Amino acid sequence: MTAADKTTTDKTTTDKATTDKTTARRVQRIKPSPSTAAAQRVRELKAQGLGILDLTVGEPDFDTPDHVKAAAIEAIRQGDTKYTPVNGTPQLRAAIAQKLQHRHGLHYPADRIAVGGGAKQVIFLALMATLDAGHEVVIPAPYWVSYPDMVLANDGTPVIVTCPEADGFKLTPQRLESVINDRTRWVVLNAPGNPTGAAYTVGELAALAEVLLAHPHVQVLTDEIYDEIWYEPGQVPSIAGVEPRLTDRVFLTNGVSKTYAMTGWRIGYGVGSAELVSAVNALQSQISSCPSSISQAAATAALTGDQTFVRNCVAVYRGRRDLTVKLVNDIPGLSCTPPSGGFYAFVNCSGVHGKRTPAGEEIRSDEDFARYLLESQQVAVIHGAAYGSPGYFRVSFATSTDVLTEACERIGRACAALSPADPS
Ligand code: PMP
Repeated sequence: MTAADKTTTDKTTTDKATTDKTTARRVQRIKPSPSTAAAQRVRELKAQGLGILDLTVGEPDFDTPDHVKAAAIEAIRQGDTKYTPVNGTPQLRAAIAQKLQHRHGLHYPADRIAVGGGAKQVIFLALMATLDAGHEVVIPAPYWVSYPDMVLANDGTPVIVTCPEADGFKLTPQRLESVINDRTRWVVLNAPGNPTGAAYTVGELAALAEVLLAHPHVQVLTDEIYDEIWYEPGQVPSIAGVEPRLTDRVFLTNGVSKTYAMTGWRIGYGVGSAELVSAVNALQSQISSCPSSISQAAATAALTGDQTFVRNCVAVYRGRRDLTVKLVNDIPGLSCTPPSGGFYAFVNCSGVHGKRTPAGEEIRSDEDFARYLLESQQVAVIHGAAYGSPGYFRVSFATSTDVLTEACERIGRACAALSPADPS
């Protein structure tokens, strides 16, 4: 967040605080998630009978695998329907430990694993457990929409660091170094990232780790929720595995939502130092006691069972990614770097800025363009400013190739109908 942004936020907060006598300041600081707002708008338009092509969806379009559902049904039959330990069942924690051992060669004992109601809840609890007023959290942009609001809700200050497409949308050691100060509590890394699908190489992580080693008061939150949806050779590296001297300062979060098409089951986890995990568990014990026992049984089956489902999904996503990137790059005015993972493409639309719609309206921003696509072509996307990166929009390819092909055709028609920018 720039100094100017901070001032605006502080002023808005104060203005609201003086008029709103019902809610706490921490609530007045946050806004509803833009993706939830977009989904709501799509629902409203669909209810009006409009044939919307929805590219806003942030969840797999596959069904949860049958063996996972069967494990949940079995848990109900067996009477696994009571509170579990606050930090999750021993079976689920063992499954998580096994995955991390296998993937990163890291050994996390049970007291360093927290299980919560989705990765979102675990990240929120980690911030709640560590932030006091005045603490700063470094968030590279483009970012997942929830990070800044989670920080604000926990009295912290988001420090947004713009990471341009020329840098692969990635945080560089220089940019990181330039924003760290005594108040910095966390730096957030999310790879493969939402909305860009970008990920750090081992070398890039080692260079970031070098900066962090010089600032022992800064912790790293690495959000790896898209780790299995990966299109490059090998597997996506984690800063937790790259620099052993940093491992105790890394809080690694993940979950089953995206990999196993289990968004509604609400199971996520976080691993880190025993001290932090114990603080997260203390909060969880007062907030929800534990995540759903049935969902934990399902998540255990997902993590320990046959992984063919995951391989099949990735093969399908890969086809859709290649198709989407090609179709978008064929549209004059738009461009898109292929994502290395995840199921989103982040499309550069700065080439249409300044142009005019057939109705004579100037496209002044990514938000104007997203509105134009929705109103003229019934294609729903999320504008880049929602992710801290104006000049882009996010396309989710967690939908059929038919929808993607038709949507890209319509986006192409919308671009072709624009008149050139006014000569200045
Ligand atoms: N992190 C990122 C980057 C995400 O995109 C999402 C889901 N939109 C989450 C975390 C939250 O996942 P969960 O369903 O486990 O809460």
